[in-house]
Amino acid sequence: GQADIGILGLGTMGANLALNIAEKGFAVAVGNRTTAKAFALRDDNPGIGENILPTESLEDFVAALKTPRLVLFMVTAGRPVDEEMERIAPLLSPGDVMIDAGNADFNDTVRRSTAVEATGLHFVGMGVSGGELGARHGPSIMVGGARETYPLLEPILEKIAARYEGEPCVAWLGPNGAGHFVKTIHNGIEYADMQMIAEIYGIMRDGIGLKPAEMATIFADWNTRGLSSYLIEITAVTLAETDPDTGRPMVDVIVDEAGQKGTGRWAVIEAQKLGVGATTIEAAVSARGVSSRRGERENAAALYRDVETAGVEFGGETDHIAALEQALETAKIIAYAQGYATMAAASGEYGWSLPLAEIARIWRAGCIIRSRFLDDIARAYDTGENVVNLLQAPDFVARVAAGEVALRRVVAKAVLAGIPVPALSAALAYFDDYRRARGTTNLTQAQRDLFGAHTFRRLDKEGVFHHRWPAV
Ligand code: NDP
Repeated sequence: GQADIGILGLGTMGANLALNIAEKGFAVAVGNRTTAKAFALRDDNPGIGENILPTESLEDFVAALKTPRLVLFMVTAGRPVDEEMERIAPLLSPGDVMIDAGNADFNDTVRRSTAVEATGLHFVGMGVSGGELGARHGPSIMVGGARETYPLLEPILEKIAARYEGEPCVAWLGPNGAGHFVKTIHNGIEYADMQMIAEIYGIMRDGIGLKPAEMATIFADWNTRGLSSYLIEITAVTLAETDPDTGRPMVDVIVDEAGQKGTGRWAVIEAQKLGVGATTIEAAVSARGVSSRRGERENAAALYRDVETAGVEFGGETDHIAALEQALETAKIIAYAQGYATMAAASGEYGWSLPLAEIARIWRAGCIIRSRFLDDIARAYDTGENVVNLLQAPDFVARVAAGEVALRRVVAKAVLAGIPVPALSAALAYFDDYRRARGTTNLTQAQRDLFGAHTFRRLDKEGVFHHRWPAV
């Protein structure tokens, strides 16, 4: 065979990834359930098409590949991945590598990895972020799987990945499900980041009464400083857009029901399993769920009178926009700290040794949460000291300390005005819980001991105790 790599599945992501690989000078064999797409991909892309080898059957596809074969699946996540793997496995030879580059549940990746590695073939679970444009021109790539397969993939992946100041945004992150787990957390952080931006937009719209075009200017300004990121940039772009049909701001004609494909929910579920509070991500996932029941919300709006907003003057302070900026920046740090805490816990639980600094580095470009801020996170984890949580990294301690009051004021005002801020307030609640040395679960432990003899430990003595509580 001639091809350096093969891609099965030429939907949005597969086709764009194939073009990216071919453009970088690698020969890529392509196959698709609907075979015509493979030939169209070659024929419709003059100049790049010569590196694309369309195939009509799995046999042709396998025969087109150099050995050891690199077979990358970019099909709909779930059953289709298992089906394709089962069909091609008998045609492969020991040492060949199957790569699932879709958005897999990392639990599936662990299962597939174990099954495949037992047969002498290799399995790689690879998270690809950046959507259609990322796949075409440079995604952020999170690789997990057998370490010995990475040198086979690295030359191709380093060429097709996004670059941040020249450094390719791709890395091997750990065995089996590590890559897909990190991609899941990336998406969870993305949910939280987007939700918090939407909450600030809600305050600007319903609290201050700003027009979308005015907000666009503010977000564009924020994009020049600490919050600078792709998500803030596209917020400014979307808010500035006018609907060609009505002449109204585009955002004003869009239905307030958010879609979701499930990766945010996975992030929350995995955080819960690990006993980590990813409350900002949970708030974001829940908010999308509530948003999707619009009819129910409209009924509820009629049942409750408007909140008395007298005394809650968002526009009353000259620095209110600066306060919103600082509140968002502070909440964002807390949300990222939760995502990173989830990865740190998973790393211990699954024995992965996830490189947290490296993860921040490969997220600096190509992916949806790309930002300069991730460079700060990389530096915090790069100090060599064991950073137990971003909220304890010196640089972030200073930033949160500086922004805490703004976050408190913004959340408090929004709450008084009845403007929902589920993610911003979750960030604040988590922070207040996290920074309190003497918590309140001593009472919880007393209750548990009373009703279930669950025992407790004491502050003044070693050991495990049970108290004879009065009978209730
Ligand atoms: P599309 O819906 O565009 O394409 C799906 C592909 O899967 C098609 O090639 C389709 O073949 C193939 N397929 C579906 N079912 C089967 C099956 N049972 N057997 C064989 N082939 C099948 O999906 P995307 O390209 O958007 O997504 C692919 C993966 O990438 C998903 O896991 C997705 O979550 C992930 N992803 C998507 C992103 C995006 O922005 N779209 C971003 C990051 C990851 P056919 O042409 O014959 O229908």
